[in-house]
Amino acid sequence: MAVAENWKEKSSELDYRHQAFINNDYVDAASGATFDCVSPVDGQVLTQVASCDAEDIDRAVRAARAAFESGAWADLAVAKRKRVLLKFADLISDHADELALLETLDMGKPISSSRGGDIPGVAGSVRWFAEAIDKIYDEIGPSDGKGLGLITREPLGVVGAVVPWNFPLLMAAWKFAPALAAGNSIIIKPAEQSPLTALRVAELAAEAGLPAGVFNVVPGFGETAGQALGRHMDVNALAFTGSTEVGKLFLKYSGESNMKMVSLECGGKSPNIIMEDTEDLDVAAREAAMGIFYNSGQVCVAASRLLVHENIRESFLEKVAEFGATMEPGDPLDNATQQGSMVDENQMNRVLQYIDKGKSEGAKLAMGGSQVRQNSGGYYIEPTIFDQVSNDMTIAQEEIFGPVLSTITFKDPEEALKIANDTIYGLRANVWTSNVNTAHKMAKALKAGTVNINTTDGGDITMPFGGFKQSGFGRDNSLHAIDKYCQLKSTYIRIT
Ligand code: NAP
Ligand code: MG
Repeated sequence: MAVAENWKEKSSELDYRHQAFINNDYVDAASGATFDCVSPVDGQVLTQVASCDAEDIDRAVRAARAAFESGAWADLAVAKRKRVLLKFADLISDHADELALLETLDMGKPISSSRGGDIPGVAGSVRWFAEAIDKIYDEIGPSDGKGLGLITREPLGVVGAVVPWNFPLLMAAWKFAPALAAGNSIIIKPAEQSPLTALRVAELAAEAGLPAGVFNVVPGFGETAGQALGRHMDVNALAFTGSTEVGKLFLKYSGESNMKMVSLECGGKSPNIIMEDTEDLDVAAREAAMGIFYNSGQVCVAASRLLVHENIRESFLEKVAEFGATMEPGDPLDNATQQGSMVDENQMNRVLQYIDKGKSEGAKLAMGGSQVRQNSGGYYIEPTIFDQVSNDMTIAQEEIFGPVLSTITFKDPEEALKIANDTIYGLRANVWTSNVNTAHKMAKALKAGTVNINTTDGGDITMPFGGFKQSGFGRDNSLHAIDKYCQLKSTYIRIT
């Protein structure tokens, strides 16, 4: 990976896009309102971003609808659509340093993650769906023999995407790549904490050749811009990634407006089950630490509940703490830093309150627990481990979204399963064992959209990603993601 050496110097050269991107133009919010875009790296204001509301959303929907109905994108030959999307992916790769830097400054993740993980993932996602579209066939049904039953996929029209701040551009790409590949127009509402990369990438989409109105970004607050998109009468589908609480609001918005299709990627409280027969406990401990401390624990699939067999608890926890200590927060602009800041002061305070709650409910603080690097002006929390947690405690039930691990012990696989499934969430579960029988049995019994065996970080773009239970429904990634952005049409042709 050829990366820039001096990110600080490079950041002084950045030009922040701060207006909404509608119909291939940067425009102010109709009201003229803006909000401060703050960097959690040092607490400084980076720029003022357009604070859009219902009027701007309506303008974007009109542009998106006109583009869709014109057929300039939806009816383009797939080979041409593919070429444009591949160019878009190349432009993202060409601007990877700039986009990674924007992401790091905007939400505080270390540059090693944004440059090594997020941005290549964004380009990869666009490339993968671009490559897919000229290889997908529609169907002919086995109907009565007196005719021909065609089953074809059609794009929906206008798709809204409301996305979170933990992987800002990547979560947006998981929506816009398949939606665009399928021929839709899209309107992205980034989180207020992290609008900068989506705003910059919009320009690259236009440069790649996406027709005006196909790719729009409307920054603003959830309650105004997000809600307006969720309630708009001319939006066909709304793809959401974020908290379970807000996910439920989108079902309500849909029900109270035009019954738009909703897909929800929501929260998680993933169990990481360490059986006594785990082959390599060092690897398991390192991944247990990475699984909760990566991205400062601001990860929907974070392995936040460590379920460890009671006979190995003490020695295993020591190893996890050892690896955790190597992930102390540092300067996000230093290539060597593994853990950066929390996304903002609110999120830091929320996590610190959960840590207090853990202590007051009787869990034992085994490591960390405090804010660090105060001199930076930013918002950092050290890797934190609780021992002697019981699954009914708040820190075992609620999604903390911070670098806080809750350790719970079990006696046998049945008890491990019972604890693992005792949550409203069902996004991911991990099991470590050397027994293939145990692996299969547990994978089947765990109520989660993804089960990892002997890793906390399995799966890639070829695998569907999404939740069971209140982690939501609908899947990102894999060819199944395209289903969310198409409807099926049955055409019966009688043959006489
Ligand atoms: P959030 O508060 O639910 O916000 C997500 C998005 O919804 C933001 O763009 C937000 O806008 C918007 N929003 C907030 N209130 C709204 C409202 N009343 N109406 C319409 N839109 C509204 O989540 P977050 O704090 O950004 O992200 C963390 C959450 O995302 C966690 O729960 C995490 O598990 C989840 N997540 C899930 C996945 C997954 O794939 N399952 C992946 C990543 C993250 P503003 O922020 O601008 O107000
Ligand atoms: Mg920010």
